[in-house]
Amino acid sequence: MAVDPVCKMEIDEKTCKYKSEYKGKTYYFCAPGCQVDFEEDPEKYLSEPAGGEERKEPPPYGPC
Ligand SMILES: [Zn+2]
Repeated sequence: MAVDPVCKMEIDEKTCKYKSEYKGKTYYFCAPGCQVDFEEDPEKYLSEPAGGEERKEPPPYGPC
C-alpha cells in the first residue's frame, strides 16, 4: 500500500490511476485534485520528518 501524500489516504498502487514522480520516487493519489495539489508544491507535502518525530508546527487554521 502507498499513501496519498496530500490527504494521507491509503492507495493501492496496482489500481491507482493518479501518480506522479518526484525526485525519483513515485507518489500515488486518490484523485486528480490531490495530484495537482502535490505537483504544485511537492515539498509542502513531503516536509514531514521521517522517523516518527512529532510535528510541532501548528495547523494552518488553528483550533476552533
Ligand atoms: Zn487524496
